[in-house]
Amino acid sequence: MTRERIPIEPRRVSPGTRAKILAATDHVCARPGCPERATDVDHILPLWLGGSNKEKNLEGLCPAHHAAKTKAEASLRAKAKRIEARENGTRRERKPIPSRPGGWPKGRKIPTRAGSK
Ligand SMILES: [Zn+2]
Repeated sequence: MTRERIPIEPRRVSPGTRAKILAATDHVCARPGCPERATDVDHILPLWLGGSNKEKNLEGLCPAHHAAKTKAEASLRAKAKRIEARENGTRRERKPIPSRPGGWPKGRKIPTRAGSK
């Protein structure tokens, strides 16, 4: 069972589009309440999730907000890869943890204080 891969667009955003995105918010970070200067153009829906380089999928962010978003997406992407690997059967198999013995092993006589010879 394989999942169809979403084709990923090239990362590149043209310099013209980039300038337009940053100018749209007056070079201020797109995160509400953030007064920092927007220097990075971010993909709102990441390319790896099928997002595009179209203007409606782009926003200007300050470096801190861009880094935070990228970091959050990295863990999400790692999780997606693990799920994909499991579905495709390419996951590295782990040895099962042995269960704890539930008492004395079979055939072994439980010693008692009185019965020992
Ligand atoms: Zn910001």
